Parts: sequence; C-alpha cells; structure tokens
Amino acid sequence: MTPQVVWFKRDLRLSDHQPFYEASQHGPVLCLYVIEDDYWQLPATSNRQWLFVRESLLELAQQLNELGGSLLVLRGSVDESLERLRATLGAFVLYSHQETGNGWTYQRDIQVATWCRQHAIPWHEYAQHGVRRPASDFGGACQEDWHQHWESWVQQPLLPVPSMVRFVQLQAISSVELPWQLCLDEYDCPGRQQGGRSVGLGLLDSFLAARSQYYQSTISSPLTAEQGCSRLSAHLAYGTVGLREVVARLDLTLRYHPDRQWSKNLRAFRSRLSWHCYFIQKLEANPAAESVNFNRRYDALQRPWDEIRFTAWSQGRTGWPLVDASMRYLIWHGWINFRMRAMLVSVACYTLKLPWKLVSDWLARLFVDFEPGIHYPQIQMQSGTTGQQVLRIYNPLKQAQELDSNAFFVRRWLPELANVSDMWIFEPWKMPAAMKLRTGSQLYPQPLVDFVSANRDAKDEITWLRQGVSATRAAIEHVNQAKEKSDAAGSAQYSLFDGL
Ligand SMILES: Cc1cc2nc3c(=O)[nH]c(=O)nc-3n(C[C@H](O)[C@H](O)[C@H](O)COP(=O)(O)OP(=O)(O)OC[C@H]3O[C@@H](n4cnc5c(N)ncnc54)[C@H](O)[C@@H]3O)c2cc1C
Repeated sequence: MTPQVVWFKRDLRLSDHQPFYEASQHGPVLCLYVIEDDYWQLPATSNRQWLFVRESLLELAQQLNELGGSLLVLRGSVDESLERLRATLGAFVLYSHQETGNGWTYQRDIQVATWCRQHAIPWHEYAQHGVRRPASDFGGACQEDWHQHWESWVQQPLLPVPSMVRFVQLQAISSVELPWQLCLDEYDCPGRQQGGRSVGLGLLDSFLAARSQYYQSTISSPLTAEQGCSRLSAHLAYGTVGLREVVARLDLTLRYHPDRQWSKNLRAFRSRLSWHCYFIQKLEANPAAESVNFNRRYDALQRPWDEIRFTAWSQGRTGWPLVDASMRYLIWHGWINFRMRAMLVSVACYTLKLPWKLVSDWLARLFVDFEPGIHYPQIQMQSGTTGQQVLRIYNPLKQAQELDSNAFFVRRWLPELANVSDMWIFEPWKMPAAMKLRTGSQLYPQPLVDFVSANRDAKDEITWLRQGVSATRAAIEHVNQAKEKSDAAGSAQYSLFDGL
C-alpha cells in the first residue's frame, strides 16, 4: 500500500491532529520531522525555542513508540528530505498542517509544493487554527463573520488519537540525533518553560482548576501574571496542545462552573484564544507585515539605527526600572506577560525611536513562544504603524506605580537598586549622588532621554503623519505652536489621545 507521510511542523502532538488521523485511515504511516538548519539561523529564531521544540519532539517520539511506531528526524531542507524518502519508499502521499509562518517558511512551502507537483506526490494540508485560507476570505469579510467562522471551527469534534495505526517500517534511513544546539543565543534562558505535551496539559489542568480564578485581575502585573496567565503560549505555538483542545476543555469547565465571577474570568481567557487566531489571520492576509509597515504612510517616520539606545534597551539598562526589570525577566524566562511586552515595544519604538524591525527580531528571539502570526501584528500595533486610532504609548513610571507598587518586581530583577528606598525606586535618576553611593546604586544608568518629552514628540510626529504632513522637525515645531494655541482655545484636536 502507498505510504502516508505525516510531516510534523509546529504541531507536535498526536491528538486532534488531522494530518496524522487522515493518514492513518489511508495506509501505513511514516511520521517525519525535519530540522531545517537555515530556519534556525533566521534573525527571529533562537536556541531557547529549539530546546523547547527538542523536548516536545522527544515526547512525541515516545508517544509514537507506544503506538508501535517512531518519529523519523532528518536534517536539511524539507524537499531534499522528501526526495530521500521517495528514493527509498517510492511514491507516497504527504500530509501536514497549514502554516502561517514568516516569509522563509512561506517560501519553503512553495518549494515543497513545487517538489510535490514535479513528482506527482499528493500533498494534503489541513487547517491547524481558526484561520481562513485563502486569506481573501478574511480581507473582505467583517469581523463578525470571521468570529462565526472561528466559533464553528472550534466547535468541530476533536479527532482522537487513532488506536490502531500501521506504521511504515523503514530500515534504510535512520533518524539523526536531536542536537542540543542549532544556533547561538545572546543569553541563556535558565527560567525557560519546558516543552512537551504532558507539561502543556498540566498547565491547562492547573489553570482551569485553580489559576484562572482571578485571571483578569492578575494578567497585567508582571508579579502576578506568571501564575495568573495560562502560560500555554509556547505550547500553542509548537502545537503540543491544540487550540481546539484547549477551547473544548474550557467550554466543558464553563458549562458546569458554579462560580459566576470565575466564569467571567474564564470567558475573558476564551476571548484571547480567539485573538490568537485573529492575529494569525491578520498575518495570513498581509504577510508583508513581517518586514514593512501595515500602513505605508508610516514609512516616513524617522527611525535611524542607534546602537547605544538599542544596546541599553536590549540589555535592560535604559535607566527606567520597570522597563529594565521586564527585559531582564524576559531574558531569564523566555516569557513575559502581554502588558510588559507592549511596554517594552512602546519604549523602544516611541520613546527611543528605534526601528521596529530590529526590536521585533530581538524580542522574537527572546520569546520561547514566538508565533509569527501574533508577533508581527502585535509589534506593529504597539509601535503605532498599523494606523489604529488609539496610540498606546506607555509611561514607564505610571506603569511601575500601578503594577508593581511595592517595587518587589523591580528590586528582584535589578539587584543594583535593592537598597533604594520607595521614595526613589521608580525614579532613581532623581536621587542625589551621595545617596546613590550610599545605596550602592551608582552603577545603575541614567535614562537616555526624558521620556515625557520623547513620548510627546512621538505622538506629535504620528499625529501629523496621519494628517499627511511629512514628519520633519520644522513641521513638528509648527505643530507644537499650533497645539499651544488650540489648547488655549479648547480645541478637541488632541482628543485622539484621550485615555492614554
Ligand atoms: C509585542 C508583542 C509580541 C507578542 N508576541 C507573541 C508571540 O510571539 N507569541 C504569542 O503566543 N503571543 C505573543 N504576544 C501576545 C501575548 O503577550 C502572549 O500570547 C501572552 O503573553 C502569552 O502568555 P499566556 O499563554 O500565559 O497568555 P494567556 O493570557 O493565558 O492567553 C492564552 C492564549 O491566548 C493567546 N493570546 C493572549 N493574548 C493575546 C494577544 N494579545 N494577541 C493574540 N493572542 C493572544 C495566546 O495564544 C495565549 O497563549 C505578543 C504580544 C505583544 C504585545
């Protein structure tokens, strides 16, 4: 019978895995994973991500062993790997999930499709998320229509792990060892989440049974988010747990939940699961968002490369305590909560005026949960290049006072500020020199810019770009004068930024 080859990508599980399920219904199955070295050299990929994938592959291989099969791991390009299989097995049928990845994976998929056509190999692809393909179905459709699509996708019955699977017995090609290192990271990640389905399922259990109770009130502060968020993102990004599986478990929990307030928290979590797919859909519809502004009008923004600023930001040495603590936490853990991610981007792209693409690459490498479909649209939203009405420009002092009022987080991650009193902890640059010496904080850097005026500048620049005025310094000066006048006259011109 014709061998059925299942190509695992970012879907490292067997349950609710349509390619594996369908393949098992049609003939002997061969499960394949390809370590694509070129992928792991991209500016957005990192060894910390690979180590998570590695752990997930080991568990996947073990599950396949329990079913009587194995995972064939090859190294190189996918079309070369498929060619090796064809040379050994003869014709086969290929199965995989669709992937909304970056430009590199898109090109690789085109190459695979070409190879399949050339060799008359049928390739069956299935949706892994509630994402519509072709994306033109999204472009024209209203949001409500998309949400209906998502709801009907998540409501479909889950596919079980087939109990009886016939596997291809392949002697001629053997798996490569899973390496420990595929690329060099700038930093180790000692607090990294572990990969593998059983860890993912454990997180889902503990979240639904206990940790979700105060979800909404715990997700913003970096102190509480570590426990209060589900922490499923890396598992969803590499598919050790399927999104539909999470929704199914959640809906069951919600159906019988006795606590109304808790249920509200669970429903807030459910919305985020739909955002997961909604954002991926945005990249599916606009793949160029990986490298160019969603709204091309913002190409006029001046964002020159500035090594001093970038180094300070990327190493957690900007002089703004919550920003630096968040960066160091992220470097250590490979994860941080949404609000702190947004603040890090805001500080980089508005306050320090760094180019978002480099900011994006740096963060992507640090995120173990790097998911292109969420990452690029979020980076662009938080750096103001999508053209959205409300700009989210964060004030790092206000954020610290609101989210870390006792400075536990800041003191924990910035040991050089451990002895600084509450009075100065969020504004150490205002401390007298003698006190800096007394508290041992003299090595903590001074901020590179005054964030209040830098943020105001950034708002002005974008306001005028929106109105079609080129963002030259002269134009901004003109705006500032006009603003003073219109403020005095009670004009509503700046209401755009109300609520920030
Ligand atoms: C600049 C920036 C970059 C980001 N990059 C990524 C990324 O590469 N990968 C990633 O998974 N998330 C990304 N996010 C979204 C969000 O910060 C993370 O999903 C979340 O912090 C993961 O933690 P969690 O699983 O505990 O989240 P929970 O709060 O428990 O949410 C559950 C799931 O819902 C989805 N989700 C939650 N918030 C969002 C959101 N705002 N937009 C879309 N989906 C969401 C995620 O899949 C998440 O795992 C980014 C956010 C920002 C501001």
